[in-house]
Amino acid sequence: MYTNVKEIYGQNVFNDAVMKSRLPKSAYKKMKAAIEAGIDLDPEVADIVAHEMKEWAIERGATHFTHWFQPLTGITAEKHDAFIDPQEDGTTLLRFSGKELIKGEPDASSFPSGGLRATFEARGYTAWDCTSPAFVKETPHSTILCIPTAFCSYKGEALDKKTPLLRSMQALELQTLRILRLLGNTTAQRVITSVGAEQEYFLVDKDKFMKRKDLIFTGRTLFGAMPPKGQEMDDHYFGVIPERVLGFMKKFNEELWKLGIPAKTQHNEVAPAQHEIAPIYDQNNIATDHNQLVMETAQRVADGQGLRCLLHEKPFKGINGSGKHNNWSICTDEGENLLDPGSTPHENIQFLLILAAIIRAVDEYAPLLRLSASTPGNDHRLGGNEAPPSVISIFLGEQLEDVIEQFVDTGEATSSIEGEEYVSGVHSLPTFQMDATDRNRTSPFAFTGNKFEFRMVGSTQSIADPNVVLNTIVAEVFCDMADKLEAEEDKSMAIHNMIKNTIKDHIRIVFNGNGYSEKWKREAERRGLPNITCMVDAIGAMTDDRNVEMFEKHGVFTRTELESRAEVMYETYSKTVHIEALTMIDMAKKQIVPSVIRYQTGLADSINSIKAACPDLDTSVQEDLMKDISFNLKEMYSNLAALEDVIVKAEAMEEGEEQSYYYRQVVFEAMEALREPADRLEMLVDKKAWPFPSYGDLIFEV
Ligand code: ADP
Ligand code: MG
Repeated sequence: MYTNVKEIYGQNVFNDAVMKSRLPKSAYKKMKAAIEAGIDLDPEVADIVAHEMKEWAIERGATHFTHWFQPLTGITAEKHDAFIDPQEDGTTLLRFSGKELIKGEPDASSFPSGGLRATFEARGYTAWDCTSPAFVKETPHSTILCIPTAFCSYKGEALDKKTPLLRSMQALELQTLRILRLLGNTTAQRVITSVGAEQEYFLVDKDKFMKRKDLIFTGRTLFGAMPPKGQEMDDHYFGVIPERVLGFMKKFNEELWKLGIPAKTQHNEVAPAQHEIAPIYDQNNIATDHNQLVMETAQRVADGQGLRCLLHEKPFKGINGSGKHNNWSICTDEGENLLDPGSTPHENIQFLLILAAIIRAVDEYAPLLRLSASTPGNDHRLGGNEAPPSVISIFLGEQLEDVIEQFVDTGEATSSIEGEEYVSGVHSLPTFQMDATDRNRTSPFAFTGNKFEFRMVGSTQSIADPNVVLNTIVAEVFCDMADKLEAEEDKSMAIHNMIKNTIKDHIRIVFNGNGYSEKWKREAERRGLPNITCMVDAIGAMTDDRNVEMFEKHGVFTRTELESRAEVMYETYSKTVHIEALTMIDMAKKQIVPSVIRYQTGLADSINSIKAACPDLDTSVQEDLMKDISFNLKEMYSNLAALEDVIVKAEAMEEGEEQSYYYRQVVFEAMEALREPADRLEMLVDKKAWPFPSYGDLIFEV
């Protein structure tokens, strides 16, 4: 049972320590420079690195290598190649060249590309991202050397999530350095975005999972009456973790640690059967790779223990869904976190300028941020009565809000509220300084001490999307500010005015109250803040001229890339709802309706038997129940026919925006209409007669 954390931590990663011990000194130095300063590796060094990487991987049991990449499906992709190099004498050598390390051509033409690879000759390449370390993926039946890569078309267009992410990190770095120079920092050479992604998930029993086609095909339940008890008692949140789940977490942590993923925190979440894992933050692209591995590993480990891990944003209607908190900050290579306000933020000009820029970026590009958190599943979560609302706003906390209000009121800030002493009234408890700022759990974009926490992100999503947007919009505002400030004589005055004016112009995005309330919805509308309630409405922001211009300016996306991505999103939405609708029809027709009819026949038989045995006995209860069931069954059947009807219409439409709207507005509604009578029927018939496990079975009996 004992886990030697120090021994297993990072054991499957070709990390700095491994490189240092295995590579010749000069090769190691060049490799380090490639990672840290972005200097290209020359082919000889690549050969040396590849060789050592292969030897190391083989020692760990690897037989194959793969260029591991992140296509627009949002999950990772791999195509394995064995190290073999057969010789004439019938034996084989094991080889892996620098060329194979640096570049791959997986073809992979079936991934969604939104038309970027429409022609038969369109090649796809993978290119090594040497800033994210290679690793060996050990699964029960295979051991593979994985090389993190970016995936591009023959013409260099991004076909993946990683390429734009790396581009956006570069853009933010460039513009942040300009701002730092203006503020007098002459020494920082690199700027790094740091990200820590908290991941929520559900665990359910695998046997029960396998009895539900909706979970199998769509990852969420499409039918299901609420159990008598939900999450209202808050007795699951942070509660004692059940033994079976602890068993899962133990193995889960071990697997992550082996991969050098700093899994740190674990706890029960708000909903029954819901949990969370958070690793310690890391460089943006590494954190993104790690989060993909977190999701994949969770599913694999669960499966090995007779469980299933549900990553869907809303597996159960009426019960809290799952998200991913994307904690984001900007740091320099000198170790300075630019989002750290210090103890007296009102005097921290650098922090205030950066804060003002972020406030402006979020206000000006709120629809893009909203888009970056859009998945078909997240539609069920955002704007429902749970975290967070669909209106983007920023929570700053008491201390910072006070500082920026001083700017708005008087044009300058002269004081910062200090944290008070914690006094519990109990002598034996320690006293300490409290933070000057409390937390707000309802805000989609919250300042939490020395980072921003973007809480809208969906649990299934690659965190590349939100970070591409965050990095780029902040780079854009920094760029505009730098352009203006570089032209000013009196920089200090100009910076002061810029802070003041930016805050004044964009304070409408700051909201410290309860983001769930109806009052806030109305207030947000009054302030002119967009409330984008569904993915289909959000996609338009991708090809909005102003946004296209911004992405092109910073070399993050071309118009063609954006258009192709919008197309992929519409397609994804339509396909997702389509599969859900077909699954519902299947379950309704082949499982629910026949089961209900069988149950009714049983009831009818029982009435007849009672009447035959004892004609005077009252069978009105059975009869009422039969009527009730018949009524709902009829409604269900006619709603089923209606859903089949609209599905046929949807299928006949051309793929794209209009079809997605049809799925959202018509098919989706027809699905809801089918669900209602079915859920009522679940409450009417004998539990034994219901064809699949109930909500109660799934979430209270793990
Ligand atoms: P919570 O928000 O639940 O209170 P924490 O404050 O512990 O949790 O942090 C949540 C996540 O934020 C973790 O992944 C943590 O490593 C990450 N994090 C902490 N500081 C930073 C930072 N400066 N930049 C980015 N992420 C950070
Ligand atoms: Mg958090």
